[in-house]
Amino acid sequence: MEVQSHEAFNELATAIARLHSEPSPKDVLPCTATINHARSKLQAHLPTQGLGLDESIRHLQEDLAPAFNASSRSPNYYGFVTGGTTPAAALADNLVTAYDQNVGVHLPNETIATDVEDRALSLLCELLDFQPEQWPHRIFTTGATSSNVLGLACGREYVIAEASAHRTDAENSVGELGIVEAMRKAGIDEIQILTTVPHSSLSKAASILGLGRASVNCLGRSDAPHKFDIPLLKKALEQPGAASIVAVSASEVNTGLFATAGVEEMQELRKLCDMYGAWIHVDAAFGVFGRTLTAPSYSSIIRACAGLELADSLTGDGHKILNVPYDCGFFFSRHRNIAERVFQNPNAAYLASGNDADAIMSPLNIGIENSRRFRALPVYASLIAYGKDGYRDMLERQINLARGIAKYVMESGEYELLPESSESANDILGGIYIIVLFKAKDEELNKQLVNRIKATRKIYVSGTSWGGKPACRFAVSNWRTDVERDLPIITQALQDVVEEWKNAN
Ligand SMILES: *Cc1c(COP(=O)(O)O)cnc(C)c1O
Repeated sequence: MEVQSHEAFNELATAIARLHSEPSPKDVLPCTATINHARSKLQAHLPTQGLGLDESIRHLQEDLAPAFNASSRSPNYYGFVTGGTTPAAALADNLVTAYDQNVGVHLPNETIATDVEDRALSLLCELLDFQPEQWPHRIFTTGATSSNVLGLACGREYVIAEASAHRTDAENSVGELGIVEAMRKAGIDEIQILTTVPHSSLSKAASILGLGRASVNCLGRSDAPHKFDIPLLKKALEQPGAASIVAVSASEVNTGLFATAGVEEMQELRKLCDMYGAWIHVDAAFGVFGRTLTAPSYSSIIRACAGLELADSLTGDGHKILNVPYDCGFFFSRHRNIAERVFQNPNAAYLASGNDADAIMSPLNIGIENSRRFRALPVYASLIAYGKDGYRDMLERQINLARGIAKYVMESGEYELLPESSESANDILGGIYIIVLFKAKDEELNKQLVNRIKATRKIYVSGTSWGGKPACRFAVSNWRTDVERDLPIITQALQDVVEEWKNAN
């Protein structure tokens, strides 16, 4: 079966889009027996003669698919920030496979693919209230982790060049000389990553880039670990022999809290970093979408996302709040020259494209991969299908549900909202974005809470720890979120867990 005709494609694609918009699967997790059964059906060895297309697809759909979790297909899957897939993105994703474009080189007379990628990125800037021309180095990635790798790689290149500027006129480049020689020439003996409550992928990026996980240094305030302790930050920046990348967590994954609250705080960071030749990277994987909000009830989130345009680079995720399929992230940087110094695919004349300063840059010279999936197409499709209002509406529903959960937790006698706060209930709720962190007051129940909630199969949450104790986390990120439909399911599940516990003890 080849998908050649428009009709055949439409039939297939519509079936897939339907999967993402039908009433959600009743249970968010398959039961263990189903998973074990599927496992027993896995082909043990490569068949000498193929099974054929029909039998292979039957095998995937009937034997394996029942054992997949509902993750992004269900709005009741709140375990990780998984997002979902809008119908427009699902349809476009099938076109990506059908046309199988390789988006590595800008070939304006041969395919429009790189134009689509660049336009999708500039539409995304418009959605996020950024000026596209401010971010001349922009590219789709496989996710926020690889965007963080790009951010630290660009930062590493920049801070070494800055540290060398007063010593030599010659360009000092990590990309060219390697980190050891470039640091020696710059008179630098340490590159430090200064941050607060970073996502684990920041340390992973530091490891990949030879900076080391140990270079990640958390400088949070003792009373508010997500916010920079500015005097401590100054002291670290001043340290002789050190070059610094400042990594701003714009919505932290456990609590949803943002490192800055207002443009003034970003301006203060910018001033400090300029003084010491430091690079600012913002990890705003899901936080950056707060920039779509306008209503007064979200003013605290709006303030927290203000001034992110003052960063040197920024990480965003596509497969979370943007609700396009895996795997998609994006990366923006204000430094076009740094892009090529780090990612230039050297001496590949056959891959060269124009040097025009305004031209679209070939993705293979500004990102990790050579050959790349056309992941821009689902983004483009979804952005034009729903527009600025559609995306704002999705996010408002997600925030409203998260606030509904938080309110229930605060008012219930059995659960407790985290982190503990002395603010008024209204202020606490006004600060909730899409994450709700909480625990059970009964410590014995709390130890089993996540598993007991998962065992309901009605909702899925993830476990974490807070203040040395187990904690439980909701992350709301699906485009289909509907407060009136979903909140009763959640509160019922949370109540059932408590009732069952009380009955058994
Ligand atoms: C999810 C997340 C990441 C990692 O993103 P992937 O897309 O899973 O690679 C990084 N930073 C933050 C803040 C995140 O929420």
